[in-house]
Amino acid sequence: MRRFEGKSAIVTGAASGIGLATAMRLGSEGARVLIADLDLDKGNAAADEVRRAGAPDAMAAVCNVAEEAAVERAVDAAIDRFGKIDIVVNNAGLMVFKPIAEQTGDDWLKILNVDLLGAFYFIKQAFLKMKNGGVIVNVSSVHAVETTPLVASYAAAKSALVSLTRSASLEGKSIGIRVNAILPGAVDTPMLWENPNIKSGVETINLTDVGKPEDIAAAIAYLASDDAKFVDGAAMRVDGGRLSRL
Ligand code: NAD
Repeated sequence: MRRFEGKSAIVTGAASGIGLATAMRLGSEGARVLIADLDLDKGNAAADEVRRAGAPDAMAAVCNVAEEAAVERAVDAAIDRFGKIDIVVNNAGLMVFKPIAEQTGDDWLKILNVDLLGAFYFIKQAFLKMKNGGVIVNVSSVHAVETTPLVASYAAAKSALVSLTRSASLEGKSIGIRVNAILPGAVDTPMLWENPNIKSGVETINLTDVGKPEDIAAAIAYLASDDAKFVDGAAMRVDGGRLSRL
């Protein structure tokens, strides 16, 4: 299956985990991919992997998604190299673990700037520079709908990202851009196993409920493809059924 032949994509936070698996999946199906992440060496290593997966081209750009000017530079770099962008995957994300009583406004801004505004900056650039037929996939979380203690800012940001997805899909429709969100459950990445709530047992996970980054990448690739051409403004839970259980 090479659904992205002739297409170009930006994947944020693609130096590791779900983002890297997504960049590799899109690349393996023919997309040229720009990896937007914080560290150039890790980004370049990821770009090598994406090329090895079959991408006709891949490049890394240093981009802190929390900085609007950096986002604009990354989008322009992709357009310079590939001629256009067809797909944006807003995947970069961060968590902070703290009781609400100990949190500061700065703690909240750190999370909101990356997990929510990062996606907003890329959506804005996409609306300005993407052509009709473009697609945006926002990586939210099951924390948008159910959560645990100690991650209030993360849960709020991921919930707001679903709301932003809804608003952007409405405004994107008139310019031919589809916008959807994906809500991953527990996924086997460093972010999962370094989660203090999981280490301490506050949040318990049955190992049969842990997916692989490739499982999420497959769902993102579906939403990014023409197979999902009638899917717009959706929030798709991909958690192996974990949230359905009583
Ligand atoms: P990860 O920590 O393996 O990868 C996150 C990547 O984002 C890293 O490469 C990091 O450098 C990059 N990043 C962080 N801040 C950035 C910034 N300001 N600008 C650019 N890049 C930045 O995490 P992951 O598990 O692959 O998570 C990817 C996304 O999936 C996140 O949005 C996360 O909230 C979401 N998610 C993960 C899980 C899970 O269980 N792993 C579950 C639900 C949702």
